[in-house]
Parts: sequence; C-alpha cells; structure tokens
Amino acid sequence: MPVLFIGHGSPMNIVLNNSYTSSLVKAAKELPKPRAILAISAHWLTNGTYVTCVSKPKAIHDFYGFPDELYRASYPSPGSPEDAELTIRTVKSTKISCGEWGLDHAAWAVLTHMYPDADVPVFEMSLDYSPYNSWNPKPLERHYRLASELAPLRENGILIIGSGNIVHNLGLIDFDIDAKPFGWAMKFDEKIKQLLASGNHEQLLNYRGIGQEAVYAVPTLDHYLPLIYAIGLQKKGESLKFIHEGFQHGSVSMRAFQIG
Ligand code: ZN
Repeated sequence: MPVLFIGHGSPMNIVLNNSYTSSLVKAAKELPKPRAILAISAHWLTNGTYVTCVSKPKAIHDFYGFPDELYRASYPSPGSPEDAELTIRTVKSTKISCGEWGLDHAAWAVLTHMYPDADVPVFEMSLDYSPYNSWNPKPLERHYRLASELAPLRENGILIIGSGNIVHNLGLIDFDIDAKPFGWAMKFDEKIKQLLASGNHEQLLNYRGIGQEAVYAVPTLDHYLPLIYAIGLQKKGESLKFIHEGFQHGSVSMRAFQIG
C-alpha cells in the first residue's frame, strides 16, 4: 500500500466541499482499496506510543465552538484490534501499548471524504510527546526510526496516513478560510515541497535549519511530526507525488502527498 501525509486543517472541512476535499476524494479513488487504515494523528499526544485496539472506535469531536452540524456528523467505521496487535508485535525499538482513545478529527475529518461509507476498519496511533525535553537534542529521529518499522503493515494491505499540517500556526490564523497566506508560510511550505521532491530526509528532520520561517510555521511539533512518519516509510527511490497544495486561514498549509 502507498503511504499518505494529509494536511487536515480546520474541522470545518468535515462539512465543506472545496478544492481540498475534492483532492481527498480523487486520491482515495486512485488508491487500491485498503484492508485497514492506520491514522497517525497530530491530535493524540501521549507519554509513550499507543494504538487503539477497539472494534468500534468512537468518533471524537475534539474541537470547540464550531457549528452544530459538525457535532451531528460522525464516522462509524469499525476498528481493527487484530491490526493494532500486529502493529504492537511488529515494532521492536519501542514498546507500543493499547490506549484509550477513539478517532479524533485528524483521522475522521479526512476519512469522511476519502471513504464516506466508513466501511474500512480504522485504528489510530498516538505521537509520543515525552522526548521533547531539552535534554534530548534529536527527538525527530526517534519517530523516523519508529516509522520505518511500520513498513511490514503496508505489505498487509494497511494504508498508513500521517495527518497533521506542514504549516500550522493557530496563533496567527485569519478567520477567513480563503485568506491570502503569509509570506513566511508560503516560503516554508515551498521549501518543504522541494525537500520532499528531492527526498532530502536529513533536512526535513532538521527543518529548523530552513530559516526563521520555520519558527512561525512549526510553533509546536505536533502537526509536523506525522510528516516524519510518512517519510520514515519511504523506501529508497520510492516515488512521491503531491495530491493537494494550498492554504486555509492564511497560516495553515493543506499540502498532502502520497508515497508509492
Ligand atoms: Zn489539527
């Protein structure tokens, strides 16, 4: 199976039809139908790494102050306890455990457009946020290595989706979803695009070296980390194509790409 990184942006996309949601629909149509989906979510931050092991994960409405129709929407896909257990057995470098969670909007806001029938089993993996202490100078490498160990899941018909955003600065958002993107946001997104296209994983891991725009684009690591999982799964010479590019709210990049 290919691997995806998807910028999920605002939960409003759940109920919108725009160029971004059209790109998601198109991407899903062109993919082989997965047997199951593993969503690695920017919105499940934990001490240690966890997967959801339940057969009926609940769609979590982990957002506040949005219109009622978003809270009425849901995503009743089955889970996949067997594949969660397979993930736990497959990864050797770190201990993965079953965690209590459902499907947060990083997963289901995207999947509701890709697989609207909710007929593909979905399970989630958390991001271990504990190594981000100042004593650990290379936290991203740990995620990159962990990602590479997930490769056998692809051979098992599991579509792995990292769901975050390359540029994600909520402190500077414009309330207009179609606002013109900030210069620094466009610059950072373009640079990441080039690094992805040239397969420069080293600089993607050391994104802070890109320049001052990195400080604004990635104020916290949570939305950038799912990209590290996607590239960690890229085999040597494996193709990468962009399935969407653009911005919402001026400071959120909706770029999405497919590996393989
Ligand atoms: Zn988010």
